Amino acid sequence: MSPIPCDLLLTNAHVLTMDDRYTVHEAGAVAISHGAIVAVGDVAAEYEPEDSIDCRGRLVMPGLVNAHTHAPMTMLRGLADDLRLDVWLMGYMMPVEREFVRPEFVALGTKLACAEMIRSGVTCFADMYYFEDAVAEATAAAGMRAVCGQTVLKFPAPDAASFEDSLARARDFIKRWKGHPLIAPAVAPHAPYTCTAEILRACADLASEFDVLLHTHLAETTLEVEGSRREHGMPVVPWVKKQRLFDARVLAAHCVHVDEGEMRTLNDAGAGVAHNPTSNLKLGSGVAPIARMLELGVAVGIGTDGPASNNDLDMFEEMRLAALLAKGVGGDPTAVPARDALSMATRTGARAVHLGHLAGSIEPGKRADLITVDLDQPHNVPRFGRDPAAIYSQLVYAAKSTDVVDVMCDGRWLMRGRQLLTIDEGELRAAARDMARRIDTFLIHREQSVLQKLIAIGGAAEQESFEVQVKARLASADPALRALGGDEITVIRAVHYHQYDTYFFFDDPAQGSLRYREDEFLDDQNQVVNARARLTLTGPSREAAFGSVLLFRSRFFAPATHSPRFYREYFKPAREREVEKDRRRWLVAFRGVQFWVHIDEMVNPHAGACFLEVKSRTWSRRDAQDKAAIITELLELLGARAAEAIEEGYVEL
Ligand SMILES: [Zn+2]
Repeated sequence: MSPIPCDLLLTNAHVLTMDDRYTVHEAGAVAISHGAIVAVGDVAAEYEPEDSIDCRGRLVMPGLVNAHTHAPMTMLRGLADDLRLDVWLMGYMMPVEREFVRPEFVALGTKLACAEMIRSGVTCFADMYYFEDAVAEATAAAGMRAVCGQTVLKFPAPDAASFEDSLARARDFIKRWKGHPLIAPAVAPHAPYTCTAEILRACADLASEFDVLLHTHLAETTLEVEGSRREHGMPVVPWVKKQRLFDARVLAAHCVHVDEGEMRTLNDAGAGVAHNPTSNLKLGSGVAPIARMLELGVAVGIGTDGPASNNDLDMFEEMRLAALLAKGVGGDPTAVPARDALSMATRTGARAVHLGHLAGSIEPGKRADLITVDLDQPHNVPRFGRDPAAIYSQLVYAAKSTDVVDVMCDGRWLMRGRQLLTIDEGELRAAARDMARRIDTFLIHREQSVLQKLIAIGGAAEQESFEVQVKARLASADPALRALGGDEITVIRAVHYHQYDTYFFFDDPAQGSLRYREDEFLDDQNQVVNARARLTLTGPSREAAFGSVLLFRSRFFAPATHSPRFYREYFKPAREREVEKDRRRWLVAFRGVQFWVHIDEMVNPHAGACFLEVKSRTWSRRDAQDKAAIITELLELLGARAAEAIEEGYVEL
């Protein structure tokens, strides 16, 4: 029989095929043509290659699949660490992203990520980011394979003003890239807590319409699960199922906090799961129950997550951690053996990202995505032949990403002898350093100002207001109540609520103070009927005084969408104080001017007295002066004497 022509023949290789029987060829060959694997094993004699490479002493194995990442976030690596997920994400990542993320930023970050991933033996990754077009372009230019997910969320994003915009962008993106040999476009609703039910359904419909993957984050933290239970009365997986998410082919990152039923749902839906051990550890999210998921048959791959939460893209580290963590948390050293961990990073990982038909193993018919590994480094020596599984242990427990020597994707060499062939690293380093300087400058400026930090997380505009106010101590509320019932004051509206304030103070008094206020509105029977939370930044000092009436400037920022804990960790106040009071509040008209009248009883700290506060919004110094005169009159009518007015209020008690 005459030899069959082929483009390339790898000979004398120790081939780890990762096929479904885990076939290993100690001295085998791999024949490659038109970017595809055509034969594997003892086949060297059957082929007449255009080019041939002797791989003696090298291991040839499938390229690694990074099942979940945000490649452009290499540019945010090390920017903010050791923070809770919400503070990290809402306080740092998203504000910096809003400011800097443009197609050029995304292209630069992706190139840097591709360089790092190729160096560590990754040939394929599943991505989720903004301007995914730029990710896809940079990835294709680097010669890597990727599932690229265009992000959709309910907030304005760097590449979309609204959810409708981001969905339209995802649709365009999918149309443009569908059918590309290296790039599988996808839609990526960020997470159930950053999307609405409507968004999840629209994304599932879009994915079904084009038969593309839907890439999302699911059940990452207990906070997310508790939120889902509170808002929807069920955990995360059943809720997204109810929104028909699994009508689409799904890749779900994390799945840290899922119960048995949810794991079964994921399996029945044919969803892939991306396990991100380092990211979950670093953000204190927990450890996903992957041993059980694998038992149930779920396609669990391994991901690095974004380089801002890892902080690298090293899949060798992730493989090792995946195996070790499963043993550690399960108290079972037989859980997730090395071969399974390697499979999660190759064959099963490819299945998880729904590219199992193309990648993940070295078998005829699959694309030629493979790497060679030098197992002669001292940390890999010696090797025993008795147990065929020893090679997997060697790779997972001892080998390092720097042992990867050559990388091929789709039949094209991306790295030979540790030299990158498709990316200029020197140029990238310089550009990345330059971008980092700009981000640094932005954050340094922002961190100096409480107001700037507030604006960064709110997305709402700064709103400044001036008010005249006076505060006085009352021996009894009775005279004031009588006056409010009298003819001279017209009551427009009255409310009663319980008020919890947390004041944050800063070392620099010029920053002013930040107040987190939770109000519980009470009905006639003192039952809570409604609640709200607001944040107010108060200017550092009074602007002026007219007798005992003070003019203040406030910068309001409402409502408060995060917990006091979030604000505490984000603003890092020097001191704080909690004040709890029972407040009766009237909007009144007096001498043709509207005022707010408050009668407060201090609950904590207990002051044993009532306080009266009268205030009015004002627009100019002249207006403030006029109102101050009327306030003084009103104050006397309410039974408090201006002479008793106290500055700064009772917060300072
Ligand atoms: Zn992620």
